[in-house]
Amino acid sequence: MYTIQVVGVRNTTTAFPIHGTDTYWAQFDEISKYNVSLNYFEKLWLAWYTYMQNDVLATGIMSFVMHEAVYFGRSLPWIIIDFIPYFRKWKIQEHKLPTAKEQWQCASLVLLSHFTVELPQIWLFHPAAQFFGLSTSVPFPPAWKILLQIAIFFVAEDAWHYWSHRAMHEYKFLYKNIHKIHHQYSAPFGLAAEYASPIEVMMLGLGTVAPPIVWCAITGDLHILTMYLWIVFRLFQAIDAHSGYEFPWSLHHFLPFWAGAEHHDVHHEKFVGNYASSFRWWDYWCETESGTEAFKNKRRQKVQQQLSGNASKKEL
Ligand SMILES: [Zn+2]
Ligand SMILES: [Zn+2]
Repeated sequence: MYTIQVVGVRNTTTAFPIHGTDTYWAQFDEISKYNVSLNYFEKLWLAWYTYMQNDVLATGIMSFVMHEAVYFGRSLPWIIIDFIPYFRKWKIQEHKLPTAKEQWQCASLVLLSHFTVELPQIWLFHPAAQFFGLSTSVPFPPAWKILLQIAIFFVAEDAWHYWSHRAMHEYKFLYKNIHKIHHQYSAPFGLAAEYASPIEVMMLGLGTVAPPIVWCAITGDLHILTMYLWIVFRLFQAIDAHSGYEFPWSLHHFLPFWAGAEHHDVHHEKFVGNYASSFRWWDYWCETESGTEAFKNKRRQKVQQQLSGNASKKEL
C-alpha cells in the first residue's frame, strides 16, 4: 500500500489516519499534520497519491493535465508575440506570420491528437515504468539526480529523433504518408510543435517515453517526478524550436550545441537537413546540416582542401 511505503521512508512517527478525508485538501491537511518534515510540494504530492488511492489513475490524470497546461500555456506567449509588430525583427522568416485561422486549425488538430493518440501513451507509461521499479514516494530525489537523468533522456531522445526523422525524409513513402502533415507549415509557430500524423506522434513520442522506461529497467532508479519534469522540459524544447523566433538571448548562443528555433526553422523552410530535435551534433557528424550552418561548414571544408592542396604543391 502506497501510504505505508511513504510513511516508512520518512520515519515511524508519521502514521496518519486516512479516513474522514474525502476531499483532496482535507487529505492535504491531514498529511501536513503528521508529516511535518516534508516540504510543501512533497505534501501536495503525497496528498494527491493518497487521495486518488490508485497510482495509475493518479499519474495518468496528472501527466495529461500537466501536458495540456504546459503545451497550450507555453504556446500562448508565442501566439501573442505573433500579433506584436515589435517582435518582428527577431522573426526568422520575417514575412511568414501564421493567420488566426491557421493557429486555430492547428490547435484543434493538436487537441484531437492529444486525446486520441497521446492519452493512451501517457496512460500506459505508469504500469510499464512501475513494472521496472518506478518510484512515487517522498521525499523527492536530490536535484542533481533529477537533472542528470533528464540530461541523459535529452541525449537519447535527440538520437532517436534524428534517425527516425531523417528516415521519414529519406524514404519517400514515409514522408508522403506520415511526415508531410507536420510540414504543412513552412514557417513554424509554437502550436505546430505537435501538429503531426498520429503515427508520427507515436513514433517520435516513443523517443520521449522509452528512454525513462529503459533507464528504469537498467538502473531501477527513477522517480516519477523526474518523468514529469522531463516531459515539461521536452515540451518547452519542442514548442520553442517551432516558435519561429531567434533572439540574441536564445539558448544556443550560450550553449552552441543546443539546436533551438534557428535550427528547426530552416528544416521547415528547406524540407531537408537539420533532423535532430535538441542538439546540433548528429547533423554535424552526419553532414546533414541545413541553411547557413551547412554553407559555413562546406566553405570551411573547401578552404581546408585548398590549403592542403597548396601545401602539397609546395612540397613538390
Ligand atoms: Zn521534417
Ligand atoms: Zn517541426
